[in-house]
Amino acid sequence: MTQLLAQHDRALGDHAALVKRGLKLDLTRGKPSPAQLDLSGRMLDLPLSALACADQTDLRNYGSPSGLLELREIFSNAFQVPTTQLLAAGNSSLELMHDAIVFALLRGVPGGEGHWLGYGKIAFLCPVPGYDRHFAICERYGIEMIPVAMTPEGPDMNTVESLVAEDPRIKGIWCVPKYSNPDGAVYSADTVRRLSAMPTAAADFRIFWDNAYAVHHLTDTPAEIADILALCAAHGNPERALIFGSTSKITIAGAGVAFFGSSATNVAWWLDCAGKRSIGPDKINQLRHSQFLRNADGLAEHMRDHAALIRPKFDLVDNILTAELGAAGFASWTNPAGGYYISLQVPHGCARDVVAKVQEAGIVLTPAGAAHPYGIDPQDSTIRIAPTYPDVEEVELAVRALATCVRLVGTQKLFAEASAR
Ligand code: PLP
Repeated sequence: MTQLLAQHDRALGDHAALVKRGLKLDLTRGKPSPAQLDLSGRMLDLPLSALACADQTDLRNYGSPSGLLELREIFSNAFQVPTTQLLAAGNSSLELMHDAIVFALLRGVPGGEGHWLGYGKIAFLCPVPGYDRHFAICERYGIEMIPVAMTPEGPDMNTVESLVAEDPRIKGIWCVPKYSNPDGAVYSADTVRRLSAMPTAAADFRIFWDNAYAVHHLTDTPAEIADILALCAAHGNPERALIFGSTSKITIAGAGVAFFGSSATNVAWWLDCAGKRSIGPDKINQLRHSQFLRNADGLAEHMRDHAALIRPKFDLVDNILTAELGAAGFASWTNPAGGYYISLQVPHGCARDVVAKVQEAGIVLTPAGAAHPYGIDPQDSTIRIAPTYPDVEEVELAVRALATCVRLVGTQKLFAEASAR
């Protein structure tokens, strides 16, 4: 008890000193840093004099709803989708996911018995912690969200299988299969197989396979995931997976290219739906991308340059948390092999307080609860750290401050529990 009190008093003093410093730092969104964006600077200088692509389409004109063939070829391997079934569409994969939901709600999907709105209240499985913007789409359109716990190998498949087998209202599941947001998990081969093979009560069940971090490795041994599209086909569920991705964190966020891939039937469905709202994608930007990245090797080389810039920040976060919190034993964090985030677990009931204390010191973190449906983390224990955007010095200041606040709130909780005994 005396030792705990001493630890708490030290954390209190450290926090007061921190507040006095008047820092102004932001660790909220996972954005590429300016140095990462500079890696693609040359792309904007590429000559576009030859505005025709391999199939001799004049790129200055309308058309090519599937997008530029050369670019789809470059990304076919990364997204594990045959080129003919991979579309290069708008600038944002989130936009495509949003549209897929809206198309399904208003028109239905192949294999269904009508539009999803006609089924009454429908539901999606939401592995947690997960990506807040997936959950925001569901919330906006009144789709009930059913949380399922994440494990280091993907969602808890026993729960997933039993829920989808029994409840026909469950029309889909959100999946970020590689270096997931926020805990960096990589789905195991068994998880992918079970997702592709599981019986579902809804005949038109869809896996929203958001492979946002397909090529965003932080180590020299890139993670591999099983081929969801091929497995779904092999298990007699060829229409089950809708695959999404983009170059937002490869080239220029907001001015990149998004991709949609699936079975030939779903691709035809997508083109039919999307063709009503656009006559075709921005092929000039797609040409820029294909000239800049050149081929799959060029893409891999470019991603190694990204890793060289951001790996030191991830290492720094791990080193600081280990030094500051390792011995305390009440916090744990992920050490991802790729992606954009680190997930910090603090004692139950402490995440909101930690984020509030950090804010008093001038540092903004993603709100506690954001990685859960409806913004509610029932255990109030997950904090997402996004270290890519700030420079190394800022990451160091912010994470030291965060560790101080975890020590403060954590010892306060332990002290309160000990006093209540
Ligand atoms: N999907 C995941 C899992 C993400 O983490 C993000 C961005 O943070 C996105 C999608 C957004 O992608 P885009 O810029 O292509 O819309």
